[in-house]
Amino acid sequence: MTVRKHKKHIIIAAVVIVLITAAWFYRYYIFDGEYKEAIAPETVEYIYEDEADSNVLKEYRNKKDWELIVVNNDNPIPEGYKVILTRLDNGQAVDCRIYPQLQKMFDDAREQNIYPTITSSFRTVEEQYDMLADKYKEYKSQGYSDKKAKVLAENWVALPGTSEHELGLAVDIGSGDGSVTDKEVWEWLDENSYKYGFILRYTEEKQDITGIIPEEWHFRYVGLKAAEEMYNNNQCLEEYCSAD
Ligand SMILES: [Zn+2]
Repeated sequence: MTVRKHKKHIIIAAVVIVLITAAWFYRYYIFDGEYKEAIAPETVEYIYEDEADSNVLKEYRNKKDWELIVVNNDNPIPEGYKVILTRLDNGQAVDCRIYPQLQKMFDDAREQNIYPTITSSFRTVEEQYDMLADKYKEYKSQGYSDKKAKVLAENWVALPGTSEHELGLAVDIGSGDGSVTDKEVWEWLDENSYKYGFILRYTEEKQDITGIIPEEWHFRYVGLKAAEEMYNNNQCLEEYCSAD
């Protein structure tokens, strides 16, 4: 091989490397950033219970009608929404007002040899976005177009600013012990969570109304009275809130 030819090969290889790097960069960073910008939702203000002023905390706990807030694709989280969080184990956190009933539900489940664990709880808008972006990238890597990958990702992950996880009022729950399956935990919760003010939020039956695919693991706090009524009347939150 002549020196000249050798040089040519090096130049071609360099160009190819540059192009691949540029494509990769575009796919994972630039497009990603544009997607994020296009969504740009309100950010929820949050603090932890142990950092909150005692009067602020008292006022927060005494607020009325906070349990029934409807957040979905058509109803994003309102501007200026604030939440005070209780820290849980392994980095989880929930609205401090739902913590006592959540704890009670878990204690009672454990007494009946059902060992639940929280797999996801409060999320910041950034974390919600990252989940969506990861899902989007997953579909892109399977060869879907930008448009299709977005649609598919948004079927799985709520748009930032429209997830109940950003309120701190929802928890995803799974099995926390090898002796029970996720399914057993979900069945127990499906039957019992209303006694603690929680509802199974997204079912197949109500998918047309909620706009979310069935999620057997996602439980939302709505308060004791509403949870019992919704359970007995087989209503989802949207139906319950538009019924009065
Ligand atoms: Zn969830």
